[in-house]
Amino acid sequence: NMTKKDYLDYIELVTKKLEENRDYVTELDAATGDGDHWVNMNMGFQKLIASREALESLSLRDMFKKIGMLIMSTVGGSSGVLYGSAYIKASQAIGDNEVIDIPLLHAILEAKLTAIMERGNAKPGYKTMIDPLYTAAVRMKAGMEAGMDDTSIISEMKRGAVEGMEATRGMEAVKGRATYQTNKGVGCLDPGAVTMCYQLELLADCMK
Ligand code: ADP
Ligand code: MG
Ligand code: MG
Repeated sequence: NMTKKDYLDYIELVTKKLEENRDYVTELDAATGDGDHWVNMNMGFQKLIASREALESLSLRDMFKKIGMLIMSTVGGSSGVLYGSAYIKASQAIGDNEVIDIPLLHAILEAKLTAIMERGNAKPGYKTMIDPLYTAAVRMKAGMEAGMDDTSIISEMKRGAVEGMEATRGMEAVKGRATYQTNKGVGCLDPGAVTMCYQLELLADCMK
């Protein structure tokens, strides 16, 4: 389970993970896009860290909404509007809860998925950040329905994230800048899928 404070600690872990993978993520977006994905994501997460105190004073729901608004106003590019919408929609799934348990985490992932798919007019299989999120949510739900224990459900979520991220390598891009490549980015991982996967893996680790 995660409290508001745990979630803010998680944001710091994501920022650290991004910092460690600056060159890697930049190269991925340089190969199939315009090379700014790392800069965009880092800008957003740095802003969240700088806003930690203000975020901590809010309810969990309002914190998610504020995170969405901060990302939307700070981050340029596709990822700004997509993550912004995702967090704003997830805030609605939180309601009055102040603790994120497994069912709520699944509802949050589903809300983010719906928001990104609607906003980006995209689906799983389009070689985007949607792919790891979708596979993580599907695997998590299957685990819940099979009556797995919490640790196993979280492992399923994590495995799903990695699987969905890795699957983008073989996909032809249907949305985003990789569609401008003559081979539609086949053979390359999608940068947005890689950073989404980082976030899902760390989220899974923080739920333990
Ligand atoms: P930009 O492409 O505007 O430079 P970023 O580089 O920050 O923005 O983000 C690129 C990532 O955004 C892609 O790798 C992909 O995962 C994701 N993306 C782009 N377009 C869409 C879309 N329509 N739907 C979902 N995800 C998308
Ligand atoms: Mg880019
Ligand atoms: Mg750009």
